Amino acid sequence: MTETGMLERLPGTSVDLQELAAQLSEGALSTDPGVIEAHSKDEALFCPAEGATALVRARSVADVQETLRFAHAHRIPVVPQGARTGISGGANAVPGSILLNVSSMDRILEVNQAERTVRVEPGVINQDLKNHVAQFGLSYPPDPGSVAISSIGGNIATNAGGLCCVKYGVTKDYVRSMTVVLADGTLAHLGTDTAKGVAGLDLRGLFIGSEGTLGVLVEATLRLIPALGEPLTAIAIFADERSGLATVADYMAAGATPRMLEFVDGKTLAMLNAFGGFGLDENAGSMLLMQADPVPGQAEAIMSVFTEAAERNGAIDVAYSDDPADSEALVAARRMAQPAYEKYAQEHGGGQLLDDVCLPRTAMAEFYDRVAQLRDESGLMITVIAHAGDGNTHPSVFFDTADPQETAKAERAFAKIMEIGLELGGTITGEHGVGYLKRDWLAKELDEGTKQLHRAIKSAVDPQGILNPEKMLAAV
Ligand SMILES: Cc1cc2nc3c(=O)[nH]c(=O)nc-3n(C[C@H](O)[C@H](O)[C@H](O)COP(=O)(O)OP(=O)(O)OC[C@H]3O[C@@H](n4cnc5c(N)ncnc54)[C@H](O)[C@@H]3O)c2cc1C
Repeated sequence: MTETGMLERLPGTSVDLQELAAQLSEGALSTDPGVIEAHSKDEALFCPAEGATALVRARSVADVQETLRFAHAHRIPVVPQGARTGISGGANAVPGSILLNVSSMDRILEVNQAERTVRVEPGVINQDLKNHVAQFGLSYPPDPGSVAISSIGGNIATNAGGLCCVKYGVTKDYVRSMTVVLADGTLAHLGTDTAKGVAGLDLRGLFIGSEGTLGVLVEATLRLIPALGEPLTAIAIFADERSGLATVADYMAAGATPRMLEFVDGKTLAMLNAFGGFGLDENAGSMLLMQADPVPGQAEAIMSVFTEAAERNGAIDVAYSDDPADSEALVAARRMAQPAYEKYAQEHGGGQLLDDVCLPRTAMAEFYDRVAQLRDESGLMITVIAHAGDGNTHPSVFFDTADPQETAKAERAFAKIMEIGLELGGTITGEHGVGYLKRDWLAKELDEGTKQLHRAIKSAVDPQGILNPEKMLAAV
């Protein structure tokens, strides 16, 4: 039931919310404006998030099915939500919508050691899953920067990446099967729980990364791998940015298989020190942070491939360690980049637009040059970090939100960065997704045939267009 005194009908309609409340777990439906407002936004800037009329905090698959049956019958938009850590506005409210939040469905249901799989509900937090499977000597590798706060359902819906993807792949590489609730409330099990399976179309693949526009994920069976050993860790310091980025393509072309290869520019090193006193070399132009899996007796050989590539590209210092404490400290510092950016932004007018352009590795140095030119021309602070082994860059544009001209300039710079990325053979988003923020840019990236396919699939799976409208597929 709704709380006493709360909205009982959808505004401007005769739709009775009590009908829905009666079908749900006790207290699952809220129409309290304060509660709705607190659940209406993810972490993105500049994305509308107004107008939701109800929040369902689903506790069971039945709650999700009942909500979608009701919404389908009355043509009400539904916004699926996990932990709302997204940075593209994908989980934001749209006018007249029901927010369908599954973060309370957070049980780890079963670890199958023989199959090396784990069955989970969608609200499980990624790090909690990692911690749980570690006791079985198993590992779930996908590790977005938001690993401690984002949900597996959201990770699957955005096909989240992270730091270790360069060797271990992204979320889609670990989803064996998933159960989704379709727009009319029907349940569908996509993929197989077995290691192999080619029966029928790959609908599992279609739903991964669909950002809540095709169905609501209520359970997943995920592939696990044996626990990883303590890594070898190296850093290389460069006088400028392009040398660090040029090293990446060179190193990968030498046949290297790092488990992590991160790029941090000098401006970010300084912001990290200001945030956490990490003692990083902030006079450097850039730093590469590399981790490799340990191979007995091979540490020197593994490190020499990295050292040689870095030195060929002018590194001024290369250092490595097999001490887990060193390695953890460096990765922990790298993971603090976003909080460090937030501190810098707060002290400089509050605005940060975070881009997510993924490029061919060989194009990263030129990409940096063009972003640096944009920084010089615009006078804006623009920083770059990158999951460089994957070519996945994260430029950030900082600005004063109280200054309309500077805000407009920052929005143009944010767009220009995507344009440069497309010109260099990249994509507008490597991992953060399209959401609301980049919906117009998706239409620029896709060709006409691909847009037609997107439209056809959306109208076949969600004919009334109730699932997460105005987001990823709105402009294709
Ligand atoms: C500090 C920080 C660092 C980050 N680093 C990374 C990174 O390294 N790599 C990366 O990929 N992302 C990163 N992100 C972005 C974000 O954490 C990911 O997109 C994450 O996968 C979102 O998960 P969530 O549970 O918060 O989903 P939400 O934000 O709640 O939702 C994201 C999208 O998925 C849909 N959705 C959520 N749950 C479901 C479901 N059960 N069924 C259907 N659709 C659903 C929503 O409608 C929305 O479109 C970062 C974010 C922050 C704040």
